[in-house]
Amino acid sequence: MVKYYNYDIVFAEFPDETTLALNITGCPNRCPGCHSPHLQNDCGRPFDEQAIKELLDCYGATITCVGFMGGDAQPAEIERLAAFVRQTRPELHIGWYSGRSELPDGIRAERFDYIKLGPWVETLGPLTSPTTNQRLYRVGPDGSMEDITARFLRK
Ligand code: SF4
Repeated sequence: MVKYYNYDIVFAEFPDETTLALNITGCPNRCPGCHSPHLQNDCGRPFDEQAIKELLDCYGATITCVGFMGGDAQPAEIERLAAFVRQTRPELHIGWYSGRSELPDGIRAERFDYIKLGPWVETLGPLTSPTTNQRLYRVGPDGSMEDITARFLRK
């Protein structure tokens, strides 16, 4: 079962979006220097259709995007829950922050509007760093992925 630790309304994770960001636990990536070690634990509340529906009932009118932050232990479930958001609230954008370097086999990118790929590497920095290894992609309806990482660079 997918679980989430907490959520927040954020403005910087996806460009020009007001995002309901859901911090998913059970991360398997074990990045050295992990910035959120609590998300490696199998803890938190069940994250399923009912949980999403309740959150969208509360916050759906004030957001433009739903962000799945993590979920690499169960990518097929993340894809399935993204499809549920799409079906329930088709006007909302959907983003996924994965710590993997590549999209797992069988995952349909077009289920999402944004996908971030890449593990945390402390010496290279986050998306705002010019040396970052991480990439944020804007996904087209056909599943094409445009690298928009440059939009994060600090001026
Ligand atoms: S992907 Fe994020 S939460 Fe997971 S180990 Fe790496 S830094 Fe930590």
